[in-house]
Amino acid sequence: MPNVIQLLPDHVANQIAAGEVVQRPASVVKELLENSIDAKATDIKLVVKDAGKTLIQVIDNGVGMNVTDARLCFERHATSKIRHAEDLFDLHTKGFRGEALASIAAIAHVELKTKQDQEELGIHLVIEGSKFVSQEVAVLPKGTSFLIKNLFFNIPARRNFLKSDVVEMRHIIDEFQRVVLAHPNIYFTLIHNGSEVFNLPASNYRQRIVNILGGKSNEKLVPVTEETEIVKISGFIGKPEFAKKSRGEQFFFVNDRFIKSSYLHHALMSAYEGLLKEGNQPSYFLYLQVPPHTIDINIHPTKTEIKFDDEQSLYAILRASVKHSLGQFNVAPVLDFER
Ligand code: ADP
Ligand code: MG
Repeated sequence: MPNVIQLLPDHVANQIAAGEVVQRPASVVKELLENSIDAKATDIKLVVKDAGKTLIQVIDNGVGMNVTDARLCFERHATSKIRHAEDLFDLHTKGFRGEALASIAAIAHVELKTKQDQEELGIHLVIEGSKFVSQEVAVLPKGTSFLIKNLFFNIPARRNFLKSDVVEMRHIIDEFQRVVLAHPNIYFTLIHNGSEVFNLPASNYRQRIVNILGGKSNEKLVPVTEETEIVKISGFIGKPEFAKKSRGEQFFFVNDRFIKSSYLHHALMSAYEGLLKEGNQPSYFLYLQVPPHTIDINIHPTKTEIKFDDEQSLYAILRASVKHSLGQFNVAPVLDFER
């Protein structure tokens, strides 16, 4: 019998990997924003058209790339962020898998403009469906711009699966908010179809949260602080009387990365026990710093789940510190007259 197994060509492998990394325009937004943060940008601008279906652009003032790196960044497993497997347990960057740009370039039209500070000229690259189309030197400002057009142009099934602009934009704003709340020291702007949706000058955590929530949110927030060997907790929780039926404003960040954790959510809810009307959800914006070697982030390509070494201690510490804050700020139990 002849051999039947073949290695897939890179562009096919990239397209398969893209299925996991890029579910919708919001996934591209997340990856590009994270790359700009890793590039030490202090000013990051996100521009989208038609909820990202026609155009997504991220412009940063970060370190930029040289010519070789600008080409290499589109290769799979190409990363400047880790070198060895052990580095996975000492991560200080958002990225490390080296597959986002390879995936995005496999399923969209991508234009990269980048220049390093010390260079006279930058580079302008065009890549479509994993194929390099053009490469020129160009006069550019310091930093990097990624322009993504026609997402899923070569995967009609994915393209057709996209929801309405309102829904896709909601997903983009969700990802944007998760990133900007984790990095209040960076100036972020979001422009959709020519109008400014967010303009967030660099500030502190409290101010950034208030800028996102708007209105009178400042008076609704109670600070939380705790420091132990296992975890350092900071951030804010909403006073119980401002709790709502929806779970919109609940954020955990671990080492500056938004994460989802039903376990930590449970710890928090148990601290509010007796203070909430039934079915109500408190707002929270909690920032946990843990030693990088005590967590595993490499569980899923989107990195929103984390495995903690010592989940139980974390649960207890979080619960106690939230309870303490609620007590300290004289948050009294609600009298539930409806019962
Ligand atoms: P990862 O972020 O996991 O390393 P990516 O595919 O997202 O993988 O990016 C590949 C590489 O391209 C990065 O490691 C980085 O060196 C470079 N890069 C990507 N975006 C930028 C940017 N905005 N500024 C400078 N370098 C970038
Ligand atoms: Mg990345």
